[in-house]
Amino acid sequence: MYGLATDLELAGFVGNDSIGVFVEVEGATTAVEAFARRLVAEAPPASLIDEVASTVLEPIGSYDFVILTSQPGSSTTLVSPDLDICDDCLAEMNDPQNRRHRYPFINCTNCGPRFSIIAETPYDRSSTTMAEFAMCTMCEAEYSDPFDRRFHAQPNACPTCGPEVWLVRDGAVVEGDSIAATRSIIASGGTVAIKGLGGFHLACDARSPAAVRQLRDRKGRAAKPFAVMAADLATAREIATVDETSADVLTSQAHPIVVMSARPASPLADAVAPGNKTIGVMLPYTPLHHLLMESGDVWVMTSGNRSSEPIVIENDSAADRLGELSDAQLLHNRSIQRPVDDSVVRSYGGGVSPIRRSRGFAPYPMRLGFESRPALAVGGELKATLAIAARSQAFMSQHIGDMENVETLDTFATTANDLSRLFRIDPEVLVCDRHPRYLSREWAYANADGRTVIEVQHHHAHIASLLAEHRRNEPVIGFAFDGTGYGLDGTIWGGEVLVGRLNGFERAGHLAAFELPGGDAAVARPYRTALSLLRRFGVPWDIGLPAVAAAGTTERGVLAHQIESGLNTVLTSSVGRLFDGVSSLAGVCQTVSYEGQAAIELEAIADFSMPGAPYEFAVVDVDGTLVVDPTPVVTAVARETLAGAAPGAISASFHRGLANAVRDVAVAVRDSTGISVAGLSGGVFQNAVLVELTVDALTAAGFDVLTHRYVPANDGGLALGQIALAAHIA
Ligand SMILES: [Zn+2]
Ligand SMILES: [Zn+2]
Repeated sequence: MYGLATDLELAGFVGNDSIGVFVEVEGATTAVEAFARRLVAEAPPASLIDEVASTVLEPIGSYDFVILTSQPGSSTTLVSPDLDICDDCLAEMNDPQNRRHRYPFINCTNCGPRFSIIAETPYDRSSTTMAEFAMCTMCEAEYSDPFDRRFHAQPNACPTCGPEVWLVRDGAVVEGDSIAATRSIIASGGTVAIKGLGGFHLACDARSPAAVRQLRDRKGRAAKPFAVMAADLATAREIATVDETSADVLTSQAHPIVVMSARPASPLADAVAPGNKTIGVMLPYTPLHHLLMESGDVWVMTSGNRSSEPIVIENDSAADRLGELSDAQLLHNRSIQRPVDDSVVRSYGGGVSPIRRSRGFAPYPMRLGFESRPALAVGGELKATLAIAARSQAFMSQHIGDMENVETLDTFATTANDLSRLFRIDPEVLVCDRHPRYLSREWAYANADGRTVIEVQHHHAHIASLLAEHRRNEPVIGFAFDGTGYGLDGTIWGGEVLVGRLNGFERAGHLAAFELPGGDAAVARPYRTALSLLRRFGVPWDIGLPAVAAAGTTERGVLAHQIESGLNTVLTSSVGRLFDGVSSLAGVCQTVSYEGQAAIELEAIADFSMPGAPYEFAVVDVDGTLVVDPTPVVTAVARETLAGAAPGAISASFHRGLANAVRDVAVAVRDSTGISVAGLSGGVFQNAVLVELTVDALTAAGFDVLTHRYVPANDGGLALGQIALAAHIA
């Protein structure tokens, strides 16, 4: 604004207050008009303009333009997400004449680290991890010049005064060119732990089956897909089908991992994403990545952590925790303030939907369609995120991980305090899931300190997250399909039709409940769920079925006893588990090594070119509740599998049948309530095949359909829904 006003010879001032940025300009009418126009047209790439409001004032005779100092506490604190390197900086880095030629920490006001280096607000260099680097004269001159691209670029640095990288191998620093040495280790099949923007990556050559296999063995990660980094868009096109939307997202400022269809003749090692027809790809987003990778390179770039622990951010822990997982460690001395994992989005139907909202997105403010008391929402258990809100804004945290170990719980607690401090919001209420065993809920009570704790139902929070993201608060027919959520009746819900809005809901329908023998054991071994489905819905255990064969005689005996006696068995209406069961029945997947594997593999093989009618669920009205009975589906899957039908055809019929069932239930609810807005949320709706079919079916039936575009459909979006519910309940 200073640059623009000065350029147009306007007088006045600019500052921040609790609403946003205010500016007053005075001068020739044409110049003032030009200012208003160029303010938006030439907004810096890193800016986010929600709204511009203007008023005409009487001239007061100002003759210069000044930047007003913000009063502490008077302004809304915003923190920028981390930004990918801009074209100007990239060009400078590649210019042998430039003083930052090949400098891995080049940045400017349009690019570079932000959230990952900010310790305190307001955002000044002294409150970032760059505080320990004193700028040299040349950097200082850029930093102080309002017309320089590095004016007030807090992480500004150069080879003379800034951070540096070095490579450690077997505990010793490798002499010479650390970039070249890293490349050569990766080229020869090794793995290097690379310190990045928001944490470490483990990197190896994604084309080398041996390298990928070795990384899997070291990480103890059997089958969960790895994301890859492709050197450039052309290289990405060799491994994935990159449509226009995906290309835009890949190169957007957030530079997330984009999950796309894998190319059938992809040069990637099969072990990168076994059993998947999709591949998660990202492009280099830091100067260091650009120095490391050359066109044609595709590297596995997976979070640098031991299985299920948070991503490593410190040099010291890299040796401890990543030493055994890697052949060398490429380190640098710009400290990372907090872990910020790569974001993941899925591309489908001409748009994208987030799967993990983290680097590049967190902690952008989210404008709410309602007013919130100062509140902190603690999310769920898996894919944990938190959200803090006050007035009409919410801030979602970065991805924290699955709350299953002490390290993740530590990060969770730190993040809660972090959000409160950074955004200067003192929560008056805490919001959590009702699940009595969620560690996030336990944390909320342990840290309530006299404040109110509001418990909200899991699937209601899913639907609320969808409403909040679309800034709607009207009655909706919400389909919340996921793996597990604590129901109001003590059973495990997960196939829910909730009719309501932000102040309450009614369970209008659900998938018919069935037994989950052994609880978590059934989740790990989908054939157990398959056998339970057969038993519950009256289909014999035919040994010709892959699911029955997978159980073995002894386990079948135990299962039969468990299901009949209800011993160590929970009842569930989970669609996620139904997917597991069908995947097993069709012979696709019998045991899983990561969450959702059976469903993901079932989706991957869906083949709509084969003949086969959609399966038909029976929808039964039981005392006013619509129960979706899968008996005909389970029967058909078993019968067709025994008859030798292709699993791809079974998968297609199942997906189409489920989409039709959603439509039929929606129509029935519309008939009785008059509501014609339908919403899809919950982890099951990360399934792009299902979302597309369901949206098509609902749209054809005349529904206005809401799907997630901003927060994940999975539990990573729960915290936003919790904020929305807390603002409307009590
Ligand atoms: Zn830049
Ligand atoms: Zn310098």
